[in-house]
Amino acid sequence: MLIDSISSSENIVAFTGAGVSTESGIPDFRSSEGIFQMDGEGFPPEVILSRTFFDQYPEKFFEFYKKFMVYRDVKPNRCHIALAKLEEAGKIRAVVTQNIDNLHTEAGSKNVVELHGNANKNYCMKCNKKYGAEYVLNSPSVPKCDSCNGTVRPDVVLYEEMLDEEKLYRAKWYIRDADMVIVIGTSLVVYPAAKLIKYFEGDKLVIINMTDTPFDSTAMLQIRQKAGYVMWKVAEALT
Ligand code: NAD
Repeated sequence: MLIDSISSSENIVAFTGAGVSTESGIPDFRSSEGIFQMDGEGFPPEVILSRTFFDQYPEKFFEFYKKFMVYRDVKPNRCHIALAKLEEAGKIRAVVTQNIDNLHTEAGSKNVVELHGNANKNYCMKCNKKYGAEYVLNSPSVPKCDSCNGTVRPDVVLYEEMLDEEKLYRAKWYIRDADMVIVIGTSLVVYPAAKLIKYFEGDKLVIINMTDTPFDSTAMLQIRQKAGYVMWKVAEALT
């Protein structure tokens, strides 16, 4: 049914979350092995990853961020690669992702809307000088700008911060215009990103996720299997 639906669609949006990257070895937030289960020295991860915490305890923020949010030597998995192949085949029009790991782009997807930013991009909060992920990872504690000594922060959206207006606009536009939306590997509980699904006006909503989501009852099809396995089968059949 999934393959037939994709086959008869031409304007598909993939809406992805941390679950598409677990098969690359990056933990998600809410699975049993997810980041929410890990030791944050007494603070819940959503508190540590908030703007208030970043401002008040930058050392603790970066200790957690470097340990759990930025990964060296990870590679796109079968789900990322399948989505890139389906884009190339003219099926997928855009990937709207909550992920910050850059793996969709590394897999070859061209039209990626990164709602929550990208951990490979960092900037000085004082002079705006740009830095890669290695600079942050190699800094002993809080990364400082080598030009002005300002704090270098990741270009990712922290809890309490607003999403980029232009990205939100593009994501809404793609989803509203789509003839099919495939949600993959997201609990759909992080707002406002999850709310974007409500802009879909069609009836072909598919959710590929290992656990329940609040949008399951509105989906044409729910698939409780690993994203890499499912999407690889689709790409094999259609590309
Ligand atoms: P989440 O942890 O809330 O949900 C992930 C979902 O994926 C879970 O429901 C889980 O059951 C499912 N899942 C895990 N592995 C799967 C697999 N192999 N196949 C299918 N489903 C699988 O994550 P979320 O909904 O993306 O939202 C939380 C936030 O997590 C986002 O803001 C995102 O920025 C951040 N985050 C990103 C990364 C990353 O960039 N890789 C990693 C962790 C967290």
